[in-house]
Amino acid sequence: MDGRALAERIRGDVAAEVAQLGGLGLATLLVGDDPASATYIRLKHEAADEVGIASRDIRLPTETSEAELLERVAELNADDAVYGILVQLPVPAHIDEARVLRAIDPMKDVDGIHPLNAGQLYLGRPTLVPATPVGILALLDEYAIPLEGARAVVVGRSDIVGKPVAHLLLQRNATVTICHSRTADLARETLNADVLVVAAGRPALVTVDMVKPRATVIDVGSNRTDAGLVGDVDPGAMEIAAFMTPVPGGVGPMTVACLLQNAVRAARFRRGALAFPAA
Ligand code: NAD
Repeated sequence: MDGRALAERIRGDVAAEVAQLGGLGLATLLVGDDPASATYIRLKHEAADEVGIASRDIRLPTETSEAELLERVAELNADDAVYGILVQLPVPAHIDEARVLRAIDPMKDVDGIHPLNAGQLYLGRPTLVPATPVGILALLDEYAIPLEGARAVVVGRSDIVGKPVAHLLLQRNATVTICHSRTADLARETLNADVLVVAAGRPALVTVDMVKPRATVIDVGSNRTDAGLVGDVDPGAMEIAAFMTPVPGGVGPMTVACLLQNAVRAARFRRGALAFPAA
């Protein structure tokens, strides 16, 4: 499954929408100097520039207090030129991440992790949904993978990938199982999966013998190892799966493209073109 090709198409569509909508601003906040976070932020800004979204890259030192960060979020909430706000996670340990995420105007929450947006997804009325799960569903649709009645197994239960993708699959009438680090017999679960989504951050967690023949496998894992960037699934599983995403070139590019899509969606909410539920 070619995430790069689909992501490129989505970015083209986003660029056309941005041109139609006119000025659209995205602000990112990065606290500290984690190199992986800096890379993600750079990729997001490059992608935003490419589609004509004006992006503001706010960097704050590690010792920034929670109050200072909340102050910056409040400023961005009040700034009419900013349609989307993204706080790069993780934030340093002395800052209460949940409090910061709650402080973002839900209508500007392009990461879809404010409790209001998470709750809307839970209720089956998605507003802004985290980009990685949106990208995964877009890939499944691109390859016309049947979801209704399918057995879908999600490995990982993070708020940004595992849980939201499970909800999106449930909404599409898949029978969904969520596995995690305490799952008793992971292979027994994964072998049942017509659609297997793996987001655990553990290289080669899913081996070839854990994949059902002809299954569709979405490898979300993005692990930096001595051998380069690898996923959570043994690439040998491509031999038995009907469809599978490569790492790199699968989910990664889709995440960035769908983040831009979320920025456009946020603009539509702000301009009243889409109805946003009251907070
Ligand atoms: P996380 O690190 O917050 O949580 C990992 C989840 O995996 C947990 O729910 C845990 O219970 C589960 N898990 C850990 N070990 C397990 C095991 N042995 N068996 C079963 N479950 C296990 O997860 P995250 O933030 O969702 O990230 C997961 C992976 O996806 C990471 O590699 C991350 O880099 C990658 N990721 C990639 C993209 C992308 O765009 N490609 C986006 C987000 C995350």
